[in-house]
Amino acid sequence: MEKIKVGILGATGMVGQNYIKLLKNHPWFEISYLAASENSANKTYEQAVRGRWQMDTPLEDKIKKIIVGNVSDISKAKGKCRFVFSAFEISDKEQIRKIENEYAKNDIPVVSNASAHRKTKDVPMLIPEINPEHLDIIKIQQKNNGWNKGFVAVKPNCSLQSYLTAVYALMQKGYKVKKMFISTLQALSGAGYPGVASLDICDNVLPFISGEEEKSEQEPLKILGEIKDNKFENFQGLEISAHCNRVPVVDGHLACVSLLFGDKKPKKQEIKKIWKNFKALPQKLDLPFAPKQPIIYNKEENRPQPRKDRDNDKGMALTVGRLRQCNIFDIRFSALSHNTIRGAAGGGILNAELLVKKGYIK
Ligand code: NAP
Repeated sequence: MEKIKVGILGATGMVGQNYIKLLKNHPWFEISYLAASENSANKTYEQAVRGRWQMDTPLEDKIKKIIVGNVSDISKAKGKCRFVFSAFEISDKEQIRKIENEYAKNDIPVVSNASAHRKTKDVPMLIPEINPEHLDIIKIQQKNNGWNKGFVAVKPNCSLQSYLTAVYALMQKGYKVKKMFISTLQALSGAGYPGVASLDICDNVLPFISGEEEKSEQEPLKILGEIKDNKFENFQGLEISAHCNRVPVVDGHLACVSLLFGDKKPKKQEIKKIWKNFKALPQKLDLPFAPKQPIIYNKEENRPQPRKDRDNDKGMALTVGRLRQCNIFDIRFSALSHNTIRGAAGGGILNAELLVKKGYIK
């Protein structure tokens, strides 16, 4: 198969750099266009990231030489790439929505990491193991906007990907979850580069990440929701309370989760069996970035740990552990995933693979 040409918007940032690293040798996709802010535009990629390349692999020569475009100048992307991964950050979210829509209008599908479109009623927010049927909204989105081949599909906030699939796996087996209490310990790379000031985070923990608790409490309801009357309707009957903390770890978001079930309550052995056997569409379709086993249970009493477990299955699996009774709710456990891989660039690539396989990107 001839490789599909892809662009990366926000290519110089933390997530953009991860895309460049992860797409090297991708069997379906080939990077053909890079864009960032006007500060990076018109420089070679090598010049644009000089002194701030954060990956542990060297830059490939062919990437070094690409002249970086300006994200706002869509004309430069036209004809160069079939679709774009969006990973740029502007504090004005309306501006991000406008730019992403402009790409879609110009027949360039947008697979986005940004939060700007997550609440948009006809934009799917995908975790391919949970809600691949949400892709059905794309035809409606295109009709609503008068777009032809373009569309916007987003992925959710990075931290909830550490635990939501494990919770969904239980719900899918008929164990209704009524309340979920989460406390996260989130890595520094989640704040981008240069991110949090070193004097704020060394020898410290920050018990506040702007907007993160609201996202953790709202986004799962859309992901678990359904399409009704041509728009998304949130899942009803699940209450979520989140505490989100920034900790001095480079990569890997850890979450402590307590669940209250409805009348039907699973036993611990049953839960471990459900997690072990959980497989979904990405595994059935054998998508290149799909983890073979999406939920890995580590039975050691002091796991999962960011440094030791974040790279499981190329950083795409989530690792759970410490499953035990909860004195207030029913069960509690710890869950971890790699925030810039599963929670960002790797998750975006998996979304794009699903979109290709399902014929939305031709
Ligand atoms: P980052 O390291 O701060 O990178 C920001 C990127 O946006 C850079 O490429 C930057 O280009 C570009 N940019 C800045 N201002 C711009 C402007 N006015 N117009 C166009 N481009 C502009 O941030 P990040 O962590 O990679 O995050 C990128 C996006 O992914 C954000 O929306 C974030 O919420 C989301 N996300 C991040 C993570 C994570 O783990 N880090 C996880 C999930 C989602 P220059 O280099 O030229 O300034």
